[in-house]
Amino acid sequence: MSDRPGKIVCVGRNYAAHARELGNVVPERPLLFLKPPSAVIGTGEPIVIPPESQRVEHEAEIGVVIGRRLRHGDESEARAAIAGLACVNDVTARDLQKTDGQWTRAKGFDTFCPMGAVVPIDGQADLAALEVIGRVNAAVRQHGHTRDMAFPIPHLLAYISRIMTLVPGDLVLTGTPEGVGPLVPGDVVEVEIPGVGLLRNPVVAA
Ligand code: MG
Repeated sequence: MSDRPGKIVCVGRNYAAHARELGNVVPERPLLFLKPPSAVIGTGEPIVIPPESQRVEHEAEIGVVIGRRLRHGDESEARAAIAGLACVNDVTARDLQKTDGQWTRAKGFDTFCPMGAVVPIDGQADLAALEVIGRVNAAVRQHGHTRDMAFPIPHLLAYISRIMTLVPGDLVLTGTPEGVGPLVPGDVVEVEIPGVGLLRNPVVAA
């Protein structure tokens, strides 16, 4: 990809129903982790199941792309710093996430961050009225609404900006709704944000 993000900041357990399905609770404050930019692939490119994992799962998410530097921002500054949205799949080696204790390997394999085209949003767009849908082989597995987020998008960006400066091109993954599940070679996985776009990737063995 030509416009790979500079950094990818991700939020875990931002939908209560998804936190529950993995036996977790919604955290008191946003739970952050990073994915490496080298994991990014575009629509149509294959997700490669690595031999190290027996359980790779999809996580359909709303990606927020930063268009303006944000440091120690409030929520209105955070809102103004958004350049656009993109469909993203936070592909996760669930077994390694559990055994490793921290998530760098589980979240960081090459091809584990499929990302669709960045679609600009206007200043009036209602970020609390977005939906994200995850499908495997055309069957809907996930269907989330941003109104169900524990921490809304402007809150997330403001929170992150108090830890690390967000700069144009950075990508923030805003968490996945319930319904995560396994991917195996031969599957086709889709992430759709109605009004924004559709991301589709085949799954292959290494
Ligand atoms: Mg995720």
